Amino acid sequence: MIKGIAASRGIGIGSICVITEHELKYDTARIDDTEGEKKRFADAIEKFKNETSEMAEDIRKRIGPKEAEILEGHLVMISDPSMSGEMNKMIAAGQCAEAAVEAVCDMFIGMFSKMDDDMMRQRASDISDIKISLLKKLLGIEDVDISKVAPGTILVAKDLTPSMTSQIVKENVAGIITEVGGKTSHSAILARALEIPAVLSVPDITSKVKDKDTAIVDGTEGIVYINPEGDVLSQYIIKREEFIRKQSELQSFIGKETITKDGQSVELFCNIGTPKDAKKAMECDGEGIGLFRSEFLFMDNNHLPSEDEQFAAYREAAQIMEGRPVIIRTLDVGGDKDIPYLNIKKEENPFLGYRAVRYCLGNRDSYEVQLRAIMRASAFGKVKIMVPLVTCVDEIRAVKEMVSEIKKDFDANGTAYDKDIEVGCMIETPAASLIADLLAKEADFFSIGTNDLTQYTMCVDRGNADVAYLYSTFQPSVLRSIKFIIESGRKAGIPVGMCGEAAADPLMIPLLISFGLTEFSVNPVLVLTARCIISKWSKEEADALAAKALSLPTEAEIVALMKESSKE
Ligand code: PEP
Ligand code: MG
Repeated sequence: MIKGIAASRGIGIGSICVITEHELKYDTARIDDTEGEKKRFADAIEKFKNETSEMAEDIRKRIGPKEAEILEGHLVMISDPSMSGEMNKMIAAGQCAEAAVEAVCDMFIGMFSKMDDDMMRQRASDISDIKISLLKKLLGIEDVDISKVAPGTILVAKDLTPSMTSQIVKENVAGIITEVGGKTSHSAILARALEIPAVLSVPDITSKVKDKDTAIVDGTEGIVYINPEGDVLSQYIIKREEFIRKQSELQSFIGKETITKDGQSVELFCNIGTPKDAKKAMECDGEGIGLFRSEFLFMDNNHLPSEDEQFAAYREAAQIMEGRPVIIRTLDVGGDKDIPYLNIKKEENPFLGYRAVRYCLGNRDSYEVQLRAIMRASAFGKVKIMVPLVTCVDEIRAVKEMVSEIKKDFDANGTAYDKDIEVGCMIETPAASLIADLLAKEADFFSIGTNDLTQYTMCVDRGNADVAYLYSTFQPSVLRSIKFIIESGRKAGIPVGMCGEAAADPLMIPLLISFGLTEFSVNPVLVLTARCIISKWSKEEADALAAKALSLPTEAEIVALMKESSKE
């Protein structure tokens, strides 16, 4: 078994085809006929551009416009005078075309690969792809024709460049293994788009295997087996069937309403960090945004975003969601979320310190900027305000007071906003949970933040590995807390959702159905899984299981019961 990075889910079993790297050797002697060399270079560029735009067009048709953008980016880069212009200059000075291509590309590769930003580092691999293609054109090297591989092929390569990926015929390639690349590399993006299992960054794999070796690619776990034993192979054949069955089951939930087995409908929303993620939520069939973590907008900046900057981001999310609810959580700073330019002073116990709504109410000028931006965005969709880390009624009252002052101002100067904009409360502290009945009289809705609720209820820092064994939402104390919160909201007639990770936990879902949760907010990629699990439980079945679970004294017993009863 060899470990790598799990880059595209699923299990592929098949016969290996190694894509060997050609030696790109050339004569570096000085050139006298610089005009002739420039022509040879221009021909290679022309050929590169023609082939690349053909491939981009092909990807656009077969895979999608987003994936085609990668190759279109190559065309833009090579047309940039700082690239081809520099190369021409070197040729004019007597260098051969190959040396000019290599030197200029290497200069850019060096520059981009040192950058902190993932996207920028990705440019380095784009340029490396361009360099290799151009050198091959100049040296007259033809690549293996990936489009002709037999069905059931596992492609093994040092790196799978976009130009190689464009030739892949999905039906014939059972899996991909590479030596380089991570979850966000182009090969990973394309493998996911093609739904081909892929494991990347497997050390020295090209030298460890040969053509026709059998391989298992477990793209979910990031594991590869070469020439596996019979029992491993048979286990994986079963696993592959199981994966395929589950995937097709999930696909049947696209576009469906989220309902329990006995027909009760609930809302299935998404958690996002940026307006762009809202697109992902739509693509994944989310029914709204249950948590827009606005702190990312602040973290991605080196200054406090202005009212207009924030407004633009919130409006973008609202517009992308086309009228579906968008719950924007106001700045949740502090704890483990540091925003350096806010200069919050170092604290002994940051999780118990000056954070979230406490910081916001202590810095009302900047809080007002955020509230105004959210309220202006409410003219463009169903935007709601959510307040994090509430521990007492005064906090939610203070925020509501600020909202009504802003309303007066907007009314006076004719600023558009939703006059019925809701102000909800995150319930993520034991204090808020214990007074959920009181808070329910003040808030328009609740959303349970189980990530923090578990941390504060169990007194475990959610990032501390030494106490991680206690960090579980299935602890009886946390379950009782969740149950009480939902019941309190229901009694007061306000909707109760959950935006902590537990909302997507297949083992937790039946308990949440029993307690009466009406809105689940999950990572976009988990929408269909959650919808599928919700559809498998009736209220009656969930109630019977919840009663048993709540009668058990330990977390281990509860988890064992939930696993035993799982309908996954
Ligand atoms: C939570 O605490 O459950 C939550 C959703 O908020 P965050 O994870 O951003 O603290
Ligand atoms: Mg939280």
